[in-house]
Amino acid sequence: MGWFKAWVVEKTETGQSLAFKDFDDADLMEGDVTVRVSHSTVNYKDGLAMTGKSPVVRRFPMIPGIDFAGTVETSDHPDYKPGDAVVLTGWGVGETHLGAYAERARVKGDWLVPLPEGLSPAQAMAIGTAGYTAMLCLMALDHHGVNPAQGPVLVTGASGGVGSVAVALLARAGWHVIASTGRDSEADYLRNLGAAEILDRAELGKPGKPLAKERWAAAVDAVGSVTLANVLAGTKADGAVAACGLAQGMDLPTSVAPFILRGVSLLGINSVTTPQAKRRAAWGRLARELDHDKLAAMTQTVPLAGVDTVAQAILEGRVRGRTVVEVA
Ligand code: NDP
Repeated sequence: MGWFKAWVVEKTETGQSLAFKDFDDADLMEGDVTVRVSHSTVNYKDGLAMTGKSPVVRRFPMIPGIDFAGTVETSDHPDYKPGDAVVLTGWGVGETHLGAYAERARVKGDWLVPLPEGLSPAQAMAIGTAGYTAMLCLMALDHHGVNPAQGPVLVTGASGGVGSVAVALLARAGWHVIASTGRDSEADYLRNLGAAEILDRAELGKPGKPLAKERWAAAVDAVGSVTLANVLAGTKADGAVAACGLAQGMDLPTSVAPFILRGVSLLGINSVTTPQAKRRAAWGRLARELDHDKLAAMTQTVPLAGVDTVAQAILEGRVRGRTVVEVA
């Protein structure tokens, strides 16, 4: 098959190096489906992987990029044939299995989902892992049984990828959305996505009491740490919080008070190994429920060669919404 362009992370004595270079097809890892990648995206985890700020990459050399959309070139998997449009998120791609920032990927067919009807490959990657995770949060809240009649929903890290998609989806589902952000300048952007109120993230970012005034019935938290502790403290009795992120930190300095005195539920969200049925359900709902104009409004596009700049910027909280990577 020959050579193709890819971002490659190599291990060095001081950490890791990153280069955009030619990669030999023969060095792709095992898999029963080979995909011509057309689009990828930049998630927070991609930023960590490309910069080496956290040990996301656990195999060297690694092609980073945790999600892609593309067209099947060859397949030994019964569900896929050449020409099929597919999407992949998670499963360790870009971490332990060669990833998406390349013109070609070889993966297990069991990891793929068919491109959802109604979405282009570029739109699927405008959603990407971040948007798909926002949908998993919404599904977890739905499954728990909280609804807009019980009060507002809070979204933290609202101007980011998970946050932007969560704001749009929750507003469409009828929630009064409180968008927490550290960026004053993004208030209009968030209102246009459907936010009813903007909350300065500084209010949630410093240590508070384990129980505070009850303000929201539900929350989607992309931030973790002290922020998540304060989100739990401000959740109404019998409310629920879907926790998916760690932009502020991995820790969770709280007490059992919100759980045992208010019956608040903390719902953990892991997008990486979600079973197929739930994956397809989430993608189906995204195709039907996410407004295409809002998706376009939250999306910028960069060429494959420009991913490194965005990877750095996303860790510094300088990327708004979602970034599509045009591969081919
Ligand atoms: P983004 O960087 O796009 O969004 C994160 C947002 O969090 C920022 O835009 C910013 O929002 C806010 N933020 C950043 N730093 C801080 C800080 N120090 N304190 C408080 N808020 C902060 O990332 P993604 O949307 O791609 O991912 C969000 C989180 O979700 C990440 O931690 C990611 O690893 C995690 N994630 C987890 C998944 C899972 O399977 N559980 C899947 C996908 C993502 P603002 O400027 O508006 O305040």
